[in-house]
Amino acid sequence: MVACNSADPEIDRWVALREKMVKRQIEAMGVQEPSVLAAIRSVPRHLFMPEENRERAYEDSPQAIGQGQTISQPYIVALMTELLEVKPGGRVLEIGTGSGYQAAVIAAMGVEVFSIEIRPLLCETSAQTLAELGYENAHVRCGDGYGGWPEEAPFDGIIVTAAPERVPEPLLEQLAEGAHMVIPVGAFYQELKVITRRVDGFTERSVIPVRFVPMTGEIERVE
Ligand code: SAH
Repeated sequence: MVACNSADPEIDRWVALREKMVKRQIEAMGVQEPSVLAAIRSVPRHLFMPEENRERAYEDSPQAIGQGQTISQPYIVALMTELLEVKPGGRVLEIGTGSGYQAAVIAAMGVEVFSIEIRPLLCETSAQTLAELGYENAHVRCGDGYGGWPEEAPFDGIIVTAAPERVPEPLLEQLAEGAHMVIPVGAFYQELKVITRRVDGFTERSVIPVRFVPMTGEIERVE
């Protein structure tokens, strides 16, 4: 067997923590898609967090990323990515860039990611982190994701990582035929839903109960 340890013990330590996270929190919970597991193994989750939180990056829980927002629990990131069912070369829209971690995981699968973040500070930081780490196929836009990113539509998948009380209509319109939207819907407690665009309309299924920060902006105003 060829040894593939890096020369840097600090890097090896994070790699080992990540491997443990994938085995115990993700594979053990039933996420199986090899392309998703490989992407999660490759993305340095700790580098998407404020320095004071990095030691907790590989724990089985969401973590604070500043501005009262959170990066999702590793299992939830893996599950949502698997539910998207996207292939290399595909194009995905994300609403709620946050730290940029979820966008990096999707980008690591060889998928072009278009991600929108409403909070200017998080938007700037995540765009910078993604650029520094070389995720050139992840594009971040600052603003309200309610209206999606029409110039780049239709998408082979849409992932919403802040919870609206109902599904924003413009996002449904930007979903390609056969593609899935993975979205937490509800007020305080939410259901993670998969909405699929069919030839003659949309189908919807609930996966598990979840808790995300609320989607803000236009969605709070329109009926
Ligand atoms: N996917 C992120 C976690 C997102 S937390 C990660 O991997 O780190 C949810 C994010 O959605 C927050 O950063 C919040 O500011 C953002 N958000 C809330 N409402 C939004 C909206 N209308 N448009 C875009 N982003 C929104």
